[in-house]
Amino acid sequence: MAEESPSGSFLSSRIKTLIEMIDQTQEKELSCDEFHAYLGQFAELSDQGKAARVLPLVGLHLKICSECRQEYEALMRILQAQGGG
Ligand SMILES: [Zn+2]
Repeated sequence: MAEESPSGSFLSSRIKTLIEMIDQTQEKELSCDEFHAYLGQFAELSDQGKAARVLPLVGLHLKICSECRQEYEALMRILQAQGGG
């Protein structure tokens, strides 16, 4: 005679989902290779002021990796030079 407690299992599954979500946010840090894959798109979005919202992980990498930040700044200079006719 096993008694089930639906509310209890519901709660624990909710908590599990929450923990998994937090885990994923913390684990998802871009490597430099992944950063390069997004760099062009990120630079274009930066131009429109949308970069941090659409690609927050790329922005985070910029903050922690000075080498990639220099590449990004160089690319932005090229984009702005091309854009400003
Ligand atoms: Zn990097």
